[in-house]
Amino acid sequence: MTDKAVKPVVIEADSISTFQVTVGATGTKFLVEIRDNKRIMGIKCSSCGKVYVPPRSHCPTCCVKMSEWVELSGKGTLTTYTVVRYKEPYQPKEPPIIYGVIQLDGADTGIYGILGEVEPDKVKIGMRFEPVFKDEREGSLLDIDHFRPSS
Ligand SMILES: [Zn+2]
Repeated sequence: MTDKAVKPVVIEADSISTFQVTVGATGTKFLVEIRDNKRIMGIKCSSCGKVYVPPRSHCPTCCVKMSEWVELSGKGTLTTYTVVRYKEPYQPKEPPIIYGVIQLDGADTGIYGILGEVEPDKVKIGMRFEPVFKDEREGSLLDIDHFRPSS
């Protein structure tokens, strides 16, 4: 053994991979409601009463399995946002893209989405937004095409 520092091994490779993941039973119900019914559903903890959107199977505070679904109007308040002004192949829209986190009415957590029908310099935290669903939906969060300003 020597006292030489071990240099990290770095391997360069081009990689294009396709993979599948399951969103589980809770995530499936959430996405199917959006796809088939244009409904955004939350799930309520029977112990602390918090409503999670997107839903999860267990309350992270109480560790209780959750099963009480709550239909939300989809309207909510912007809690934070960022503007992406550069183009990348994985971006779902042309820049500038405004990504926001919206706390939907009746929910205790925020859901991220793309903000539209508003200029980036007009967006303010606290603004009200509502979802605009795609006409052709496939069971993805991107079935919500964007959130637009609302009352
Ligand atoms: Zn809880």
